[in-house]
Amino acid sequence: MKYLIISSCLLGANCRYDGGTNALAEDILAQLNKAFVLIPVCPEQMGGLSTPRLPAEIRGKKVIRKDEVDVTKEFQLGSREALAFAKRYKARYALLKAYSPSCGNETVYDGSFSGTLIEGKGTTAKEFDKFGIKVYNETQINDLLGEV
Ligand code: SF4
Repeated sequence: MKYLIISSCLLGANCRYDGGTNALAEDILAQLNKAFVLIPVCPEQMGGLSTPRLPAEIRGKKVIRKDEVDVTKEFQLGSREALAFAKRYKARYALLKAYSPSCGNETVYDGSFSGTLIEGKGTTAKEFDKFGIKVYNETQINDLLGEV
């Protein structure tokens, strides 16, 4: 049995900062469900942040909320909690939402809240990388399905 850690918002949970979701199309979810047992995580909620919440972005080594409050600790806690799930299920793959300061696997917003993307990883994607868990985003699902 193969386990896939997946961002809860991709599964349709309303856990996004603005209370919205990033639900994948049903046919894509069906394909993922066939290939994996899906384990949903929302690192920001798991780190104790409420929903809705103010958006946050990575700035250097910190995660800063739009009102300039430092939420690095909450993001780090969420990453550890999500990693604990991945370890519990011995998951080798994760499908995480692109661009998120937690989940983004290739690019993130630059910390200026101007919509500017830069190369970099969210806190959870980075943590997963360290432990050899391969992280895909929602534009890379075909590559992910090619792994099974
Ligand atoms: Fe989705 Fe990840 Fe943001 Fe939670 S932390 S809402 S799972 S992108």
